[in-house]
Amino acid sequence: MKLYDAIINQTNSILQQRSCRHYPPDPSRIWKDRGTSELVMLRDAAFELGGKGYESVNYTCATTTPGLISSDEIIVCGPDLPDIHADVPFARIVFLETEDLQEATDTEKAYRNIREIEFIRYHVFPAGYMVRVSSTSNEEQVRISRKVIDAGIRFSYVGGTYIRKYHTLPLVRHVRIIFVTDPDTVAALVPCAEKVDGITKTLTHILDGLPTDCGHCQMKAVCDEVEGMREMHLGKKAGK
Ligand code: SF4
Repeated sequence: MKLYDAIINQTNSILQQRSCRHYPPDPSRIWKDRGTSELVMLRDAAFELGGKGYESVNYTCATTTPGLISSDEIIVCGPDLPDIHADVPFARIVFLETEDLQEATDTEKAYRNIREIEFIRYHVFPAGYMVRVSSTSNEEQVRISRKVIDAGIRFSYVGGTYIRKYHTLPLVRHVRIIFVTDPDTVAALVPCAEKVDGITKTLTHILDGLPTDCGHCQMKAVCDEVEGMREMHLGKKAGK
């Protein structure tokens, strides 16, 4: 899987121009996962990330390119949770180095692999950190309770919760999770999220058995831009 490599590189170059903090996951500081969704009432909330009209960006990219995501890591760009005092824009991005998802050779297996990765997004429940995600958009809103701010929650601890969950999938080798609260950086990442959305939709259609007439295909713009996408679809048809 190299379809998302250009987006990973584009995201990296955006982040390299900002001052971000890098953390290795600390097993002793992983934030508690409640295992089920928790309601944080507005009256108990300290603030929201990406809510109430603020920009919100969320995307996940998998790669098999060696060295692109070479270790588990958490990156924070912008104020960390203890330093936020009002609603802010928010981006949460996940990059995964995985084993071969087999999108070019085994459609059913690839489907299962992609669904398993998607499943994680909806099944991490950090305590006092109420996540609202939409399966039809690349947005994510988070409501943070005052109680966990007082208890010292930080993005690096929440990142540890996500990383641990992704590692329950045997096909995941390394996880990089990026939290962004700097408004300019969130805005700069919006085009990346839109491209990821286009790739993911095209990939899903290809695995669904989309007809192979490029001249009449609504995904053509994506395939014109993303290296390897057209080869994957037309190669499949040719029985490669
Ligand atoms: S390769 Fe052609 S037919 Fe297949 S998804 Fe891309 S544009 Fe459509």
